[in-house]
Amino acid sequence: MRIDILTLFPDMIKPMFEHSMLWRATHYDFLDVNIMDFREFSEDKRNSVDDTPYGGGAGMVLRIEPVINAIRSIENHENALKILMTPQGIPYHQERARTLSKNKHIIILCGHYEGYDERIRDYFDVEISIGDYVLTGGEIAAMVVVDSIVRLIPGVLSNEDSPKDDSFTNNLLEYPQYTRPRLFEGKSVPEILLSGHHENIRKWRLEESEKRTRQRRPDLYEKYLKNQEK
Ligand code: SAM
Repeated sequence: MRIDILTLFPDMIKPMFEHSMLWRATHYDFLDVNIMDFREFSEDKRNSVDDTPYGGGAGMVLRIEPVINAIRSIENHENALKILMTPQGIPYHQERARTLSKNKHIIILCGHYEGYDERIRDYFDVEISIGDYVLTGGEIAAMVVVDSIVRLIPGVLSNEDSPKDDSFTNNLLEYPQYTRPRLFEGKSVPEILLSGHHENIRKWRLEESEKRTRQRRPDLYEKYLKNQEK
């Protein structure tokens, strides 16, 4: 997969690819990432990327030319899925991560300032919000999307099985996990996990997932039940 990230703050993003799974993904060529400072595509003397809003009002607005020039400089940009990060976008969730992880080429724009020149929106395929709150810029939001997509590319995670049981798969939260020691300050590991009986462990985990989802996320649990009926 190739991902181009358009940002005014490349140094906020670069270190994310030097650690853990994102490092693995780039190091082993599952991911080709290109972090672009779209200020370099501004055509005026001051390299400006923002301007005051027509009609007046507070804050600055991201100008269209630097963004579109940057996109057009990317090889094969016509075939890439273009994502605009914005709190006004469709809510992000695991199913969307799964769908996005199947794309070969994604371009993501991190916004800044008060907002975008509205015409920028015409050049994007999808607008994504990572939640109902407002961040200063799109960098953290873009990295939430990138991280969640990249770990779903087959081979990126060392244990291929792990995304299968992750929370939100099949609308369930993940079951409780334990590791050594067996006993800590009177808290013990459930006996069933020590039994070696794989089928019973599988059933217990499913029941625990259901219980946890019912208690913590009744909205998800309802979706889960509906899917079971189908
Ligand atoms: N005034 C804008 C509005 O109300 O929609 C918010 C602008 S925000 C300060 C600047 C940038 O941060 C946005 O253009 C977007 O790229 C990013 N951003 C902020 N909150 C976000 C969220 N919840 N999801 C995705 N991107 C977000």
